[in-house]
Amino acid sequence: MNVNEISKEDIDDLRKACKISSQALEYGKNLIKKDVYLFDIAESVDKKIINLGGEIAFPSQISMDDLAAHFCPTKNNNPILENQVVKLDVGAHINGFIGDNACTVDLSKENQELVKASRDALNNAIKIIKPGTTLGEIGKTIQETITGYGFAPVRNLSGHGLGKFQVHTSPTIPNYDNKDSTKLKQGDVFAIEPFATNGEGIVIETSNPGVFALANKKPVRDTTTRTILKHIEKYNGLPFAKSWLEKKFPSFKVNFALKRLSNAGIITEYPPLSEREKGIVSQAEHTILVEENKAIALTKND
Ligand code: MN
Ligand code: MN
Repeated sequence: MNVNEISKEDIDDLRKACKISSQALEYGKNLIKKDVYLFDIAESVDKKIINLGGEIAFPSQISMDDLAAHFCPTKNNNPILENQVVKLDVGAHINGFIGDNACTVDLSKENQELVKASRDALNNAIKIIKPGTTLGEIGKTIQETITGYGFAPVRNLSGHGLGKFQVHTSPTIPNYDNKDSTKLKQGDVFAIEPFATNGEGIVIETSNPGVFALANKKPVRDTTTRTILKHIEKYNGLPFAKSWLEKKFPSFKVNFALKRLSNAGIITEYPPLSEREKGIVSQAEHTILVEENKAIALTKND
């Protein structure tokens, strides 16, 4: 998305969504403490977005230790916080215009440098951006910052463009120097999200997805699946949590329908992503706007 191609009202919605996203992230960050259940945090953050006047762009995700992203707790898969490294990823939208941001809290107190590495990488990337900066240069800055701390960037996770009701569009913002010579333009809006790890820097899919999105609407025959699909359509194609459906339908029906819909290619599953060597992972993320001669983080609280 480029703000020069949307209306003044749309830009206001985008700015408001980004502000709410950052306030909800800050709120959630303060809930990350020992002896708290992940499900309670996710629910509180989702509620906070609504109370601030936004809508949920994607379910709040709380991924611990070697899980880099996409962990969405449910009532039956609800870990408790102890000494983990915890990533919180939060997004609000207004009329489809999305703010996306994330942070890491180190409850172990042994991974402060790892947390700093991804945060510094994000800040350094923002500093070099102006119209004409290439995607490869952003990746190079992220990579050099993270390797400067002695860690590895996660190469198969990346930042992304944001569209109306679309959390992931082009361009792909690399977390390493992939030599992409595509130049940024004034008005471009996208998320940058460096991940740093003490593992090798590759994530793989695990099992038990808790987050899904409608991919390709097709008719389905059985009544349960059809009823649940009807409900899923209300999310406008944005990602949704299994736990949201479990508030409306019994768990066994939700599991049945999600499996069917996934097998039919109607929904996409987003299973938790784990670092391949079980390295600990940190993440930082902001939604960025390219201005005349610099970039600003729309999700930065001031
Ligand atoms: Mn995010
Ligand atoms: Mn993102």
